[in-house]
Amino acid sequence: MTMSSSLFITAIQNTINAHADEVAELDRAIGDGDHVVNLQRGLDALNAISDDLATMDWSAAFMKIGMTLMSTMGGASGSLFGTLFINMSKAAKEQDMNLAGFSAIFYQGVESVKQRGKADLGEKTMLDTLIPVANSLQKSVSNNDSLNTALDKLKLVAVQGMESTKDMIATKGRASFLGERAIGHIDAGARTSQLMIGAIADILITSSLQP
Ligand code: ADP
Ligand code: MG
Repeated sequence: MTMSSSLFITAIQNTINAHADEVAELDRAIGDGDHVVNLQRGLDALNAISDDLATMDWSAAFMKIGMTLMSTMGGASGSLFGTLFINMSKAAKEQDMNLAGFSAIFYQGVESVKQRGKADLGEKTMLDTLIPVANSLQKSVSNNDSLNTALDKLKLVAVQGMESTKDMIATKGRASFLGERAIGHIDAGARTSQLMIGAIADILITSSLQP
């Protein structure tokens, strides 16, 4: 996975830490408030194994990331982010790591989150960020978009998807207990997913501008 693993993990930690109060507030409003702490614990655990990850191929690294998140994060999000990476690992065995390959890998990962969470678009969860991003990647592949164009587009749909959760009622997760009272609050997992995807995209956009 090369040296880039610690670069990605650090960038993700920076953005999550910078928005920690906001995310805690979101999960307090319609959940139990622990989402950002769960995620920070998972990211600390990834940071601690970043040297190991750097020696692995993508499939092995995704598996290690998924297992680590699964065993350290806790919460609904721990098992769902864990599931995402474990299934990306399986898909990565059959793909090259280019835009088309990554798109296929991510799509399969998101499909597994849908199955695990028994949820889909429009239920006020992380999937309202993840599904539009997976679809945007697939569209970029069929449009033959450049990497930078694909990244710009997916950053935009991630924000739109995250923001779309504000007006939804939740039918899955803790927020589903609130009914109409969940309306007016963005879903915490949709926000952290968007922040992490944005941070990864920014690194790739910057690095692809290098000569
Ligand atoms: P918990 O809800 O167990 O306290 P977290 O607070 O860490 O766990 O994570 C909550 C987030 O998990 C929610 O904001 C939502 O995005 C996501 N989530 C919860 N249930 C589901 C589900 N069934 N499918 C997809 N995402 C879900
Ligand atoms: Mg919670």
